Amino acid sequence: MAPAQEDRATASRQTTPALFLDRDGVINVDSGFVHRVDQVEFVPGIFDLVGFAARQLCWPVVVVTNQAGIGRGLFGEAEYQALTRWLQHEFEARAAPIACFYHCPYHPEHGIDRYRRDHPWRKPNPGMLLQAASDLTIDLARSVLIGDRPTDMAAGAAAGVGLLIGFDHERTCSVMTQAHAVVHELTAALPLLQAHAEGRHRWLADAEAPPSPALAADSSIEKSRNFSP
Ligand SMILES: [Mg+2]
Repeated sequence: MAPAQEDRATASRQTTPALFLDRDGVINVDSGFVHRVDQVEFVPGIFDLVGFAARQLCWPVVVVTNQAGIGRGLFGEAEYQALTRWLQHEFEARAAPIACFYHCPYHPEHGIDRYRRDHPWRKPNPGMLLQAASDLTIDLARSVLIGDRPTDMAAGAAAGVGLLIGFDHERTCSVMTQAHAVVHELTAALPLLQAHAEGRHRWLADAEAPPSPALAADSSIEKSRNFSP
């Protein structure tokens, strides 16, 4: 291979860390099957967090969200997509762009007709994360996931995400057993994200390291794309 071709081939294999976010409970307050703009209440600190990842770290921010409300027949794909476009605009307007949204509409028990099934994309399965990693050449081990449910942590762990941050807004951190760190405010996730990006939390991703309890970090402690299976 000629040197120029080698350079291009090397560049094409370069990977990036990413910030993965759950949607309901992390981006917007989870008031139950949110699917309209008037139902959206943004979680305090979310714009600063996304802006930091996107502009300071130059990481793609990727939303991975179970949306079984679609499968349950509570709202449709069109409503989900309309809300997603609105969310993308709101974040872009605050200089905090979200690169991609992935959602999974299925539910193994409550889904209607073709939606009644489990799916590799439905958290705790890691399918959305793995698809994003393939689509955006993401280095999962250098990436960070923030979620508010054990299923988020399980999906991140199964995908090999290097830092799993449990956002324990309900202060029931006993359920965040797979989290590497637990925060009670989103603002507390920002220094963890920065430390991980700088390699200061590399030990968290080291399988050889002795198991450590969840780290209490909070002492009060291109055009956006959109995917579905
Ligand atoms: Mg959630």
